[in-house]
Amino acid sequence: MSSIRIEEVKGGEEERRRISVHSHIRGLGVVNGKVEKIAGGFVGQVEAREAAAMVVKIIKAGKFSGKGVLIVGPPGTGKTALAIGIARELGADTPFVHLNAAEIYSVEIKKTEFLMRALRKAIGLRIREWRRVYEGVVKSIEFKYGKHPYNPYIQVPVGATVKLKTTDEEKILKVPQEIAAQLIELGISTGDVIMIDEETGRVIVEGQVQGEGEEQYDIYVKHRLEVPKGPVHKEKEITRFFTLHDLDLYQARQQGLVSAMLFGVFTEEKEIPSEVRNAVDNFVKETVDKGNGELIPGVLFVDDAHMLDIETWAFFTKAMEMEMSPIMIFATNRGITKIRGTDIEAPHGIPLDLLDRLIIIRTRPYNEDEVREIVSIRAREEGVKLDNDALDYLTKIGVENSLRYAIQLLTPAQIRAKEQNRSNVTKDDVEYVRKLFLSLRESVEYVKQHEELFLK
Ligand code: ADP
Ligand code: ADP
Repeated sequence: MSSIRIEEVKGGEEERRRISVHSHIRGLGVVNGKVEKIAGGFVGQVEAREAAAMVVKIIKAGKFSGKGVLIVGPPGTGKTALAIGIARELGADTPFVHLNAAEIYSVEIKKTEFLMRALRKAIGLRIREWRRVYEGVVKSIEFKYGKHPYNPYIQVPVGATVKLKTTDEEKILKVPQEIAAQLIELGISTGDVIMIDEETGRVIVEGQVQGEGEEQYDIYVKHRLEVPKGPVHKEKEITRFFTLHDLDLYQARQQGLVSAMLFGVFTEEKEIPSEVRNAVDNFVKETVDKGNGELIPGVLFVDDAHMLDIETWAFFTKAMEMEMSPIMIFATNRGITKIRGTDIEAPHGIPLDLLDRLIIIRTRPYNEDEVREIVSIRAREEGVKLDNDALDYLTKIGVENSLRYAIQLLTPAQIRAKEQNRSNVTKDDVEYVRKLFLSLRESVEYVKQHEELFLK
């Protein structure tokens, strides 16, 4: 079943956006085998991080199958951050999928299909392949434009001429439209080191050569590289990363399920047939067996787990027993509550048979110093310069309302500061945006105050 032809991965955008408020979290902050009070982007919550680090050890020892993690703690105490920390500790490519339990009820596709997708997005496959490629530093690049096939007012690239250089030679390539389009989309310019797959035409940006190309305003910094050695046209071992969900989609496309998919209908409504998933599973096993790749179980994080219903719990229980399954981490801030879809009360609204398999970690509310430190780490991460009294005020907000709320105010405060032609955020900026945006507590109070009006 190695007939699966793998193409470019797109998407994951939503996932990235969702976890971007946690971009400062780089791991659990374990230094020389010990959890440091401030490390890895984390501040405090030491006990929980130690427990999480222990879980990572158990996972790495291969002794966690059939089990899961439950994180309990008030909102904004770092439950999500902790789950991300676990994923980061498991390795750089480890997928992290964040689900909120409430989403499961609001999707258009069948619930089990939605859950299955989440599960498969949380499992990765790293593939090593020898491919024939063209590789080198871009010395020059020139696009040829022509008319759009349907819209005469739009000019589209119909090809390009690229000069690639290695330490040994220079080659001029004339590339067709598909490749030209990728070169534009990837923003390739002179000084970039690129690789073009001969068979598929896929373009990969490897980085940029020292001292060449313009200074980038980009938010991401390209890797600095040496000029590649050897010939431009050659065989090269390439490592690529896919989630099982990516592979499912490619396989579905091959089986002709896809004209609809191109227009987005497929992903929203259609179910991926089980033959497709079986074919992918076989491909994955074969790849791993042959030593051409490795499976990377990631983390599936489910927030507000008390809102999951009995069917979903049954699904997750089964999933934990599967051969290929991600690490499942649930989080909740509820005590005893009804298991959704039943009249049974249970701790955290979780069925007992599943509860038995969960290791429980607790997160505690932060003290003032911790809030201050977290807010300033977040500010640094977002490039926000805070005056001292602005930081004091945000700390106060974080303690009195929630850490999450304080962090949410950083970006608006920075925008307001810019509008006032300042590069630093003052207390006044924070006070200003504090009035514009409500904390959760305030919004609830507001609704309560005007309840009569709201129900009219
Ligand atoms: P929860 O999932 O418990 O509601 P989050 O993990 O979303 O809380 O935390 C809110 C914000 O504070 C996030 O941006 C998170 O990354 C950050 N954060 C929470 N705890 C810590 C911590 N101990 N160290 C650093 N950042 C933290
Ligand atoms: P809500 O969504 O709160 O029920 P709407 O936005 O539907 O209220 O408002 C009812 C009507 O009054 C709409 O036609 C809206 O365009 C108009 N309206 C409400 N507030 C204003 C305002 N501040 N200025 C001008 N028109 C308004």
